[in-house]
This record gives sequence, structure tokens and C-alpha cells, in this order.
Amino acid sequence: MLSTIQAQSLKDPEIAELFSKEDPEKRFTNLRKVGQGGFGAVFFARDVHTNNVVAIKRMPYSGKKAMERWQGIIKEVRLLRTLKHPNIVEYKGCYLREHRAWLVMQYCSGSVSDLLEFHKMPLQEMEIAAIIHGALQGLAYLHSRAMIHRDIKAGNILLTPRGRVKLADFGFASMASSAKSFVGTPHWMSPEIILGRNEEQYDSKVDVWSLGITCIEIAEREPPLFAMNAMRALYLITRNNPPTLQSNEWSSPFRNFVESCLQKNPKDRPTSKKLLKHPFLLRERPTTVVTDLLQRAKEEKKRVLDNLRNRKTKKVLSQEAHQGPAAEAQEES
Ligand code: ADP
Ligand code: MG
Repeated sequence: MLSTIQAQSLKDPEIAELFSKEDPEKRFTNLRKVGQGGFGAVFFARDVHTNNVVAIKRMPYSGKKAMERWQGIIKEVRLLRTLKHPNIVEYKGCYLREHRAWLVMQYCSGSVSDLLEFHKMPLQEMEIAAIIHGALQGLAYLHSRAMIHRDIKAGNILLTPRGRVKLADFGFASMASSAKSFVGTPHWMSPEIILGRNEEQYDSKVDVWSLGITCIEIAEREPPLFAMNAMRALYLITRNNPPTLQSNEWSSPFRNFVESCLQKNPKDRPTSKKLLKHPFLLRERPTTVVTDLLQRAKEEKKRVLDNLRNRKTKKVLSQEAHQGPAAEAQEES
């Protein structure tokens, strides 16, 4: 059935034009998996035409939800190709092969959430400010074009090897400035999306709420209520007072920034444009903050891997000592 739907929709020149006719397997080589999302895996690859590295999100559209997925892909591609901003991941094209869309984009070092997994220590406030500032600039651009991202979280904020901050993952984005559907990742969702009172529309302020939650996520390595299951978290988001940063060690501009984003009534929340003027983001910081952070992460990763390797070597050595050369010889034979 899907092949018919796909063939039908590709007859529409406006849709056919979204996809390149080239065979992606010939154009991209050295694929190596670097990430996994809800809609597909992300790979590092080399573009043989330009010899540049790229990232490829490979999204299948077969199986039970084939039609829905196919339409989701068309939506994401349509949206991505219109966006051009230093804080939005650069889109490079989309290819089709064997019921999979290959969405090609600029290669980044990984998401802020990948970084948190390696960094068991909390990030410094200056680093958080640099990341949130970049994400907010991307967000203000989206909002100025009457779009809503609807899935702002550390997993969807990427960092390039040169330390630039990029918003990514437009799978849930709305192309209209107001919307009604229940969309997002539960712990980051704003009260007004969850409550969704009949026919009432929400707007770009939902992204401002999620950005506030992302600040807490980065500072504390997980969003509020993360220990709860999604249903309970959704209920508590609407019932509880807005979450705040736990530790008193964060500065008052940072605490105030989070508080402004996390106003339960969207009318009390500043717009993304207004937030760009917040003192938390305007405090002076070296331009190398993010590259230094990436360097720190790299060293940390190397240290962890070296440790692991040492532990393994030690284990092998102690096993050998235990079994003795006779046992070894036996195993070999
Ligand atoms: P999903 O819609 O499935 O969540 P994402 O676009 O968020 O997919 O990608 C999933 C993960 O893949 C990200 O969290 C990140 O770790 C990695 N990733 C995505 N895009 C890139 C990219 N351009 N460069 C490097 N890694 C990426
Ligand atoms: Mg994602």
C-alpha cells in the first residue's frame, strides 16, 4: 500500500522536488552510527562528491505506521529546507532508498545530552549560558518565522566541533504560530500543552517553557520529575508550582532566567526575543567557552576509555595468573 501512496505523492512535483534522485548508497560512504532517536538512527558519513563529513538521519517508513511516517518525513524536509540560521543545523538534502529516507545534514560532535552522559560533573554556569544563548537565538529565529519547535531539550541541541550551538530535530515542529495537538517529550512539556483545554490554542511560549526545563536538565543532569513515569509527570507539571533550580549555588541571574521561562501562565512568560536580553545571557564570557567544554569532554572520554582498558588488561592478567600457563595452553589447543 505504501509504495502506491509514495508513488502517488511523488507524482506531485512539489513533493518530488524535496528528494534527490541520486542513490545515497553511492554518494555516502563510511557510515558509522552516532546516535539513536525515536524515528531512526543517525550516522556519521563521508560525502564522496565533496569529501566532507556529514550526518545522516535514516528514517524508515515501512511497517504499521508507514503512512504517518512518510508524511512526517515530508513535513520535516519541507520545514528544514526553508531554515537558514547560524544556530540551526544546516540541511543538505534528502534521498530515498528502500523505504528509508536519508536526511543529510551538517555533522556535529553530538547533542548536549550526549555530553551530559560523559560529563558526570555538572557544567559550569558560563557553559550553560553559552549553550542556552545559542539555542535561544535559533528559537527566536524560528518564532520570527511563525514556527514552533515543540521538542526543545538537551537531546535536540547539538554542538559542532568548532563550538557552535545548533537546534536540531524538527520532527515535531509546527509550521503555524499556534497549534492544538498534544506533541512533545513529556517531562519537557508545558502545562498548556498538557491541559489542552478544548480547542484552545497554544503558541511559541511552549518552547520557552521547555527551554527553562532544559536549563534545569543541563544544570542537574536530568529534568524535574524524571524519576516519575510520563503520565505522573504530566499530571504533576499541571498541578505543582513551577520547578526551580535545586542548589542555591547558582547565581541569581540564572535562577531568575529559569523562573521567567517557567511561568505556568504562558502570558506571564517572556517571548524568546525578549529573553535574549536577559542578564544571564548577556554576562561576559570568553568566546571559547563551548570549544573548551568540548575539549574537556574529549579528555574525560579518553580518561574513561583508558581506565576501562586498564581494568580489562588487569582482569586478563589476573585471570592468567589464576589459571597459570598450563590452563592457557589448554585453552589454545
Ligand atoms: P529523533 O527525531 O529520532 O530524536 P534527532 O534528530 O534528535 O532524532 O537525532 C537523534 C540523535 O542523533 C541526537 O540526539 C544526536 O545524538 C544525534 N544527532 C542528530 N543529528 C546529528 C548531527 N547532525 N550530527 C551529529 N549527531 C547528530
Ligand atoms: Mg531528538
